[in-house]
Amino acid sequence: MPLKKTTTQKSSSRPRRLKPAAIERIFEIFQRLNPKPETELSFSDPYTLLVAVTLSAQATDIGVNKATARLFPIAHTPKQMVALGEKKLADHIKTIGLWRNKAKNVIALSKKLLSDFNGEVPNDREALESLPGVGRKTANVVLNIAFHEPTIAVDTHIFRVANRTGIAPGKDVLSVEKALIKSVPDTYKHHAHHWLILHGRYICKARTPECWRCPIEKLCLYKDKTPDPATTKAPTKKQATKTRKSMAKKPKLAKTIRKPTK
Ligand code: SF4
Repeated sequence: MPLKKTTTQKSSSRPRRLKPAAIERIFEIFQRLNPKPETELSFSDPYTLLVAVTLSAQATDIGVNKATARLFPIAHTPKQMVALGEKKLADHIKTIGLWRNKAKNVIALSKKLLSDFNGEVPNDREALESLPGVGRKTANVVLNIAFHEPTIAVDTHIFRVANRTGIAPGKDVLSVEKALIKSVPDTYKHHAHHWLILHGRYICKARTPECWRCPIEKLCLYKDKTPDPATTKAPTKKQATKTRKSMAKKPKLAKTIRKPTK
């Protein structure tokens, strides 16, 4: 007969999830601190946004902005991009990771915009995802920023913050996205993407989250919060010497049992 799960087993195997009131409070705090969060990518319209987001995969926004500052003055429409051509576009974006593939995709998506969408970026997920190099995340960003849809694109920062805090725990990007759409109150959905990205980028960092200066620290469910380095006591001289000595000690070898000589 299969064993029934005890209450303890049940709670320890489940990811910890924040209560709706706590999630609401977190977004209230984000809104109070940053009422109008914005993307850090430079763009002037849906097309330049689409190109910038496509270039930003596995690259920093600063790096993308440096490249597009040189690129957009000469090619900021699908027609101009196609006329520029893959080789010259590649020269402009060589400082960004995966530039060869990205150049190929930007030219191909520009051609498709001209042939299928009258040169306009479509306000539709399916149509966006039909463009070369455009996946769910890029489509979500474009829908959110250019067309003000309440989508939440889950990148590495959002995935981490959603899981650590307990706002929307999930094993993969899509389950976190679905959990966020369900748990973030409607009033905050439009800006949720930016608040969570900025929080992950500057405070809830991957290696060492800066919990001691985190505005949502009291609500967050993360177990191993980082203490304030300014108030964390440095080890005393005696403690440091003891640690050094114990680390330098060689592991004891088991005594060799000698066979009695005959
Ligand atoms: S308390 Fe720490 S883990 Fe929780 S959100 Fe803030 S920085 Fe991240």
